[in-house]
Amino acid sequence: MKCRYCGSTNIAWDHGSGHIVCQDCGAILGNIFEEVSYNKEEIFRHKLNRVSNENGAFEESVEKIVAKVLRRGKVLKSINGKISIVSIVDKNLDDVENDEELIISRKVLDGYPILKTRTKRNRYALALYAVYRTRGYSKTKSIELVSKRLKTSKHTLENILDKYPTQSRSFLESVRKALKKA
Ligand SMILES: [Zn+2]
Repeated sequence: MKCRYCGSTNIAWDHGSGHIVCQDCGAILGNIFEEVSYNKEEIFRHKLNRVSNENGAFEESVEKIVAKVLRRGKVLKSINGKISIVSIVDKNLDDVENDEELIISRKVLDGYPILKTRTKRNRYALALYAVYRTRGYSKTKSIELVSKRLKTSKHTLENILDKYPTQSRSFLESVRKALKKA
């Protein structure tokens, strides 16, 4: 497998984030896990052959799925009767997805090629970091706040900021301007 952005063959399967990541440029090249959806009927049908008690069968199936989910470090989300397995990381990101300042910051990030090809969690971390900086928090405090809110690694965010100081500074300045206008 080759990175389609920089051509590197130094590719890693990051089971923590569920992403396939280029180790040289940080680009995200794909997902390890597909999101799996079950509905109640499917769970029920799956179990019906073996167990006669209907409610018992359903509960036992749900229990099995929940155990599998926990083993993988993921959470179940129920939307319109569909039960989906989502990663905890993505759930934390989903919770802030509609935050107005963060939307603006993420849009600004799209103008920074090196920063925008990070993994989804790192893009969100960078975008939120800029929001906190704009609110007047120090670099250290902002990194801490981001990691608390998104459950992302402080170290990873710090590394990106230190590795690309010019882009990071320029990105921060653009977010500052964009939020002032908003
Ligand atoms: Zn690459």
